[in-house]
Amino acid sequence: MAERYLYEPRDYRGVSLWKNVTDQQWNDPLWQRRNVIRDVAGLNAVMRLSEYQQSEIERTLKELRAQGKEAMRITPYYATLIAEDPFHPDLLPGEDGANRLDPIFWQAVPTPAHLLFPRTGAAGAMNEENRSYGAAYQRYPNRVALFVAENTSCASYCTHCQRAKSLDLSASITREEINKGLFYITANTNIDEVLVTGGDALMISLDRLKYVLEQLCRIPHLHVIRIATRVPVTLPMGVSDELLKLIRRTINDSDKYVYFMTHINHYHEITPALARAVKKIHHYGFSIRNQTVLLRHVNDNLATLAETLRRMLWVGVEPYYLLQCHREKGLIHFITPIQVGKLLIKHLQGWLSGMARPVYAVNVEGGGGKVILMPSGHDTMHVGFPLHNRVSESVASVWTWDSKIIDNYEALGRASRSEFQAAVQLMDKFIGRSGVYKPSVIIVDKKGRHLATTHKAPLPDYSPRDKSIAFGYQVFSDDLPLTNPNEIAAELDQQYRQSPH
Ligand code: SF4
Repeated sequence: MAERYLYEPRDYRGVSLWKNVTDQQWNDPLWQRRNVIRDVAGLNAVMRLSEYQQSEIERTLKELRAQGKEAMRITPYYATLIAEDPFHPDLLPGEDGANRLDPIFWQAVPTPAHLLFPRTGAAGAMNEENRSYGAAYQRYPNRVALFVAENTSCASYCTHCQRAKSLDLSASITREEINKGLFYITANTNIDEVLVTGGDALMISLDRLKYVLEQLCRIPHLHVIRIATRVPVTLPMGVSDELLKLIRRTINDSDKYVYFMTHINHYHEITPALARAVKKIHHYGFSIRNQTVLLRHVNDNLATLAETLRRMLWVGVEPYYLLQCHREKGLIHFITPIQVGKLLIKHLQGWLSGMARPVYAVNVEGGGGKVILMPSGHDTMHVGFPLHNRVSESVASVWTWDSKIIDNYEALGRASRSEFQAAVQLMDKFIGRSGVYKPSVIIVDKKGRHLATTHKAPLPDYSPRDKSIAFGYQVFSDDLPLTNPNEIAAELDQQYRQSPH
């Protein structure tokens, strides 16, 4: 029986497009891959869209295709996580549902928001080529990413994808590039950890996966192989025994340890099917960790984030990183000010198991790697200046692992005032109401000088009662949940005596 906290997708038989599909077809990963949604007609069959919304999505897809992207790919399974009315999602109390869109819709369907602020954020800022040898990409002393996708391989495409390569129709890694990458990993004895990635490492052919793992297992100084995949989230039926057996068998005689890395952003993705896939991964002796991207309009809310992180832990996925959304062209509306991210993490302290609390970090451009953004109970935010003036403060200095200091590091995108106003107007019309689309951007003048930051609202303040509600805890006294059983020892004694033991 499914645990009650697991999110139940819509019954696919209720969707006209799939009303005659059998369970066997539905649970067949190949059927899912053959029936991905790629166009507005497909979207229209599974969700309610007005004519205007359809035409705006069509316009967006056309534009993205003209840029050489395969703009949309959604597995039927992932599409059933989207509410029939994605503009009025059913969220938890405290999640501000009235002012949000469906979190899976935002992640899967390109909207005109992706075409806005075209001059801000660098296109391909996280491109791998300039730090690569063959298919190996390096930016840390002992770790490399090895790109292995034969094509743009993800099961579903994420609208917030930060890898231009993943969505670029021309991207395909050849066997020779993989061999060069493997050669480099063998040659550099500092490398003890490899991230096998795609697109999606579990969407490549079994032959190629086997080949890559076999070769990696032969490298004596390599100890850890990480497999990056969103298959458990977007195509959980693709986590098959055949696949896991192959990985187990291939690495069995070696001394390598395999970790799976996945990507859950909202608790609506934590379904019975995902829980089964994770159990299977554990069954074959692997652990699975998660990188969540902090996404405005998706999970930049204390209740959402807390629920997502703890449900992850409940199904056996360890929250590992909470990543700041990258300042990439087309993603500007997803970016949450770093101060808000830090505050959210700060409020998780003590209220959530340490095992459910990820490390908050940003990937900086130029090869600096991840910079940790953690606050703590001992942070520097209360040093005598009014916090609300610091919200969305756009400029900071960051220190990278290799001792570089990047001054004037900006987390947010930039726009002129008129560009910003036009963007909000357009998206309000698309969504059908105002107050949902609230991008944080730096308003600049013609010379690029910083004039203001939009939505410079006071940092959200959470009282203990707010947090009890957000976390779903019963309040005991002083607006706090019970934390000391001794305070009710007499009552407990009485109940204990009456209990069967
Ligand atoms: S699964 Fe990962 S690589 Fe693929 S589209 Fe999504 S974020 Fe990009």
